[in-house]
Amino acid sequence: MLNVVIFGAPGSGKGTQSELIINKYGLYHISTGEVLRGEIKSKTELGIIAEEYISKGQLVPDEITIKMLTNIIDTNKSSKGFIFDGFPRNLNQGEALDILLRAKGTAITAIINLSVDEPELIKRLLKRGEESGRSDDNLETINKRLEVYRTQTEPLKEFYKKQGKNISISGTGSVDEIFSRIAEALDRIKEATSNS
Ligand code: ADP
Repeated sequence: MLNVVIFGAPGSGKGTQSELIINKYGLYHISTGEVLRGEIKSKTELGIIAEEYISKGQLVPDEITIKMLTNIIDTNKSSKGFIFDGFPRNLNQGEALDILLRAKGTAITAIINLSVDEPELIKRLLKRGEESGRSDDNLETINKRLEVYRTQTEPLKEFYKKQGKNISISGTGSVDEIFSRIAEALDRIKEATSNS
């Protein structure tokens, strides 16, 4: 299996690049943010709880997101691999994901770490807020999300570096330019794993 974590700050382009990756590599896309927004729209019990956290720019409790992720993996067992977008977002989730995949006899192959500077992130998120009307794309919530990213999510870089799985990619430039950087890295990994 090819299991990829697409990693980066809010606005770094994880969702956009995930779409291109699934088309080329046939992976199953798991975006925890998208799943949560779907739950909010359908006004489920889970959605009502999640909305409180998302609107404040905070992480939804691990208990909820880990259970959600376990269900999605279980119902898509026959997939060639997964792309994890927006998960893990803290060390506890990173450890949970490792355990979950190990139990299925597989593991994370690599993490694609998209780096974009903060002024550019804020610019992109404000623009998305105007276009899509996402309720968490306003300046106050954006600042909170960036703080949560720095304090809770960024430490995962070290976690994956220690495992030798971190691949840093510049997330600035055109969508196609960024995708060709990612595809080059993933092709290299695929070749290396097929030879081993
Ligand atoms: P972005 O990466 O732009 O912040 P996402 O759609 O990935 O967008 O996430 C939106 C919000 O959904 C997050 O700010 C957070 O509140 C919630 N969320 C998404 N994934 C997780 C997760 N793995 N754990 C906790 N909360 C999450």
